[in-house]
Amino acid sequence: MKWALIGASRIAAEQMIRAIRAQQDNAVTAVLSGDAERAQAYAEAHEIDQAYTDLDALLADSSVDAVYISTTNEKHHPQAMAAIAAGKHVMCEKPLAMSVADARDMVAAADAAGLTFATNHHLRNAGTHLKIRELIAAGRIGKVQAVRVAHAVYLPENLHGWRLDNPAAGGGVIPDIVVHDADTVRFHLQEDPESVVAIERNESLGQGVEDSVMSVWQMPSGVLVETHEGFTIRHAGTSFEVHGTEGSILAQGVMTPVPVGKIVLRQDGADTPVPFSNHDLYERSVRHFVDAVAGSGAPAATGIDGIKSLAVALAVKKAATSGRRTTVDYGEA
Ligand code: NDP
Repeated sequence: MKWALIGASRIAAEQMIRAIRAQQDNAVTAVLSGDAERAQAYAEAHEIDQAYTDLDALLADSSVDAVYISTTNEKHHPQAMAAIAAGKHVMCEKPLAMSVADARDMVAAADAAGLTFATNHHLRNAGTHLKIRELIAAGRIGKVQAVRVAHAVYLPENLHGWRLDNPAAGGGVIPDIVVHDADTVRFHLQEDPESVVAIERNESLGQGVEDSVMSVWQMPSGVLVETHEGFTIRHAGTSFEVHGTEGSILAQGVMTPVPVGKIVLRQDGADTPVPFSNHDLYERSVRHFVDAVAGSGAPAATGIDGIKSLAVALAVKKAATSGRRTTVDYGEA
């Protein structure tokens, strides 16, 4: 399969080019940037044959089978719609779009065209999260009562930029990180948050966008989920805890793109370390996409998963700005 990168981004450079090339018979053959010099330099740096600045020209290349979209968030919708119209399979970065309606448009268009559409939520591909999901599904902690997600970090200096000062490009910690937490919680609990309350804060790193948020989500089963996302917290580390009637799963350092962390299963006052696979998250995400294109299975995170994680993030934003408990609006099914 031949891939084109839409967006000369850091995430493509750091993770996705390698993840695509790790798949048998898959190649990255083109890259699009808004700037000709940047497109050329990026293509050379990553040994990509074609550098484009015109999306239509890139999409006219019939040898391109799939696109990976990792531009800033406001561009995902128009670029995905154009790629789908040109008959390309789409793996799109999160958040899928700026509104649920736009995200639904993208997924419906891909469905109607018979194309594979995936959302690049990496965390559900982690060995840690696959193991946590397995423990919950096997009933090892009984009936789930509550989840706590700590995903507040210090945004590395090389990521400062549109995330901190451009709400129109999808900046802010809510579109950036809450979507991942929403996807991870949905993956583990196999249900969709119903309503949320939230308080956001701007500690000074964000310029016109929130850089910190805490929220509580109610699940249809009654389970409560507490989450903390931030760009300003230097020393906390991340964690994911699931508490049930028969035990707790305590996972440290697992809200991360790298295959690290620790999982402990606590039952009857005893803590047992739980081993997990340390495979590459992005390679697994791409592998499932490639298999789905070939007609086998589904992407690890589908378009519907991307719509739902976006809907939760938008509800958290609305709850934080209105001060009211907000029902998550998943749009028309
Ligand atoms: P970048 O800031 O690296 O790239 C976004 C856009 O910014 C690029 O398309 C590029 O535009 C422009 N850009 C990048 N670097 C430069 C530069 N040095 N000079 C000028 N312009 C530049 O973003 P990220 O890679 O951090 O994020 C891209 C997308 O991926 C976002 O949607 C984000 O939410 C998502 N993401 C997902 C992750 C995951 O694990 N699933 C992790 C990180 C990000 P152009 O293409 O026009 O050159």
